[in-house]
Amino acid sequence: MTVDLDLVDRELVKRVIEEGGNDVIRCFQCGSCTADCPSAGVRPYNVRRIVRASILGVDELSKDSKDIWDCTTCYICQERCPQDAKPTDVIVALRRIYAREHGLLPGTRKACANVWASGHTLDLDEDVLNRRERLGLPRLPPTTLTHPEAQEELRRLIAKRRAQRFFEDAGNGHVVKQAAEAKEAASKGAVGKEARK
Ligand code: SF4
Ligand code: SF4
Repeated sequence: MTVDLDLVDRELVKRVIEEGGNDVIRCFQCGSCTADCPSAGVRPYNVRRIVRASILGVDELSKDSKDIWDCTTCYICQERCPQDAKPTDVIVALRRIYAREHGLLPGTRKACANVWASGHTLDLDEDVLNRRERLGLPRLPPTTLTHPEAQEELRRLIAKRRAQRFFEDAGNGHVVKQAAEAKEAASKGAVGKEARK
């Protein structure tokens, strides 16, 4: 790694530690984390290099870098690290720092918007919904989609973590439509119950 001293952020490692990457400086660059990382197998992603960059304060993790978002947070590297440097915690700490400073990538923003709207990160497409019906299951799963009170609780938790601004930016995804559908079905159910009383 070539280090341009003009671009070194001497505070970066302190901020990583403050944000939860407490053991980052234990890393001795063995590379076990990268060797077992599933993301490294499909992308030019290198967790060892990111940990090193954090310690050195190298701002190769600029706002345009997608690297820290390629981690699936599977925690394999964290389990394998012989130094207990907790590389996954380092990645999560960096995400906190860069999300605050530069915002989220569009894909992550959409997933957050879906969580805010419906509790799900991904769309349940028509094919899945139809298959559920064919299997005799309710069209919508018994998740936040059919439990609006759980969705409210989830939003309260997000707000409590002061992360609301990352989630509220609601997209117009299919999953948002599903949430509206579920809300309508729930209110019809409530009306039906009232009528049966
Ligand atoms: S984080 Fe752990 S596994 Fe990865 S290079 Fe450093 S010491 Fe090795
Ligand atoms: S937690 Fe992230 S960096 Fe670690 S092995 Fe999994 S995908 Fe790779």
